[in-house]
Amino acid sequence: MNDEGRFGQYGGSYIPEILYSSQQQLLKAYRDAMNDAAFIQLVKSEMQTFSGRPTPLTYCANLTKMLGGAQIYLKREDLNHSGAHKMNNVIGQGLLAKRMGKTRIIAETGAGQHGVASAIVAARLGLECTVYMGAHDIERQYPNVFWMKQLGATVVPVTTGAATLKDALDEALRDWSSSYEDTYYLIGTSCGCAPYPEMVAGFQSVIGEEVKEQSTQQFGKYPDRIYACVGGGSNACGIFLPFVGSDAELIGVEAGGRSDAPGDHAMRFHTDQARFGIAQGFATKFLQDEEGQLQPTHSISAGLDYVGVSPILADLEEQGKVRMTSASDIEVMEAFKLLTRHEGVIPALESAHAVAGGLREAAGMSPDQHIVISISGRGDKDIFNIAKALDDEPFTEFLQTYLKEESV
Ligand SMILES: *Cc1c(COP(=O)(O)O)cnc(C)c1O
Repeated sequence: MNDEGRFGQYGGSYIPEILYSSQQQLLKAYRDAMNDAAFIQLVKSEMQTFSGRPTPLTYCANLTKMLGGAQIYLKREDLNHSGAHKMNNVIGQGLLAKRMGKTRIIAETGAGQHGVASAIVAARLGLECTVYMGAHDIERQYPNVFWMKQLGATVVPVTTGAATLKDALDEALRDWSSSYEDTYYLIGTSCGCAPYPEMVAGFQSVIGEEVKEQSTQQFGKYPDRIYACVGGGSNACGIFLPFVGSDAELIGVEAGGRSDAPGDHAMRFHTDQARFGIAQGFATKFLQDEEGQLQPTHSISAGLDYVGVSPILADLEEQGKVRMTSASDIEVMEAFKLLTRHEGVIPALESAHAVAGGLREAAGMSPDQHIVISISGRGDKDIFNIAKALDDEPFTEFLQTYLKEESV
């Protein structure tokens, strides 16, 4: 193995021999594309005309006044096409797949958000699309499966193991090892073997680049602190990386879940259940037991429910360039309510973690300081979970009535 894709002790490529050719081909194509100004322009133009970039930087006058501390701003990735930052990445990789002459993309998905984003870009670019998804996840996330099918994707239920994300990932890799001549493997976050962590973070960096311009324009300097939720780490890398080396303090917020007991959270930092490990093609901090078995995770938000984390963030945290904190399910619901009620922005439950982290600290800061919170996605997709968490009985009644009616 060479030094390609290493971030300190993290990252790299730990893949079986059978995947070597596919990975080498991708590595070369990616380097090539990054040296082609026309390709970079094409990605930028597609982000603008298909996804609606640039997304706004929104001032929160009401919460700023209520808390009486730092000036609070939101980076509105929820306004991307399909409602989340995931679109930035699938546009970049989808165009790369086209450039490589591939006719088919494959993806694996847990909650289904990345599956939908992949299916969207495949429909747009005229590519075939196969999405691997754990059979158990398909049951829990059927609305996303429904949209993938409408978009023309084939959703393959994976029944091995626990029938969740990890098992879907194994199936996607198996597919790729034999199909790479016509197939592109589209990974949804800043994880996996090289060059995926760097590539995904790179396509997402448009978020931070825009914040640089917008903050300078709107308040005459870079933000003092920037908050982002951390699942695999792609929206965090995207908003953080352009600010590494500046005075802005970068804060990642993980899923604190129900408690810090094993299986109750997804905190890859600050618990002794998270340690250096090698799995799924790369080295990072993984939640594991004494024997090195990956542990189950929990979060109120499906998108933060992941055992590993971007090797880029693991390294930046170790270097003291990113500070990691967490928010519990309960804090997340409080933050969700505050932002929705007082600013009219309905955040995804993932993004509500960043809101919780930001609001917690804003009050203790001074009014001449500015914070930016990454709203990675919108909350519409979470309506079932949110209604449940808020014990909204009329919502349950609505679902029952709806099922009883003959036709719409
Ligand atoms: C998928 C998702 C996340 C988590 O992914 P990262 O790679 O950590 O950014 C966060 N927010 C939303 C809205 C998502 O859909």
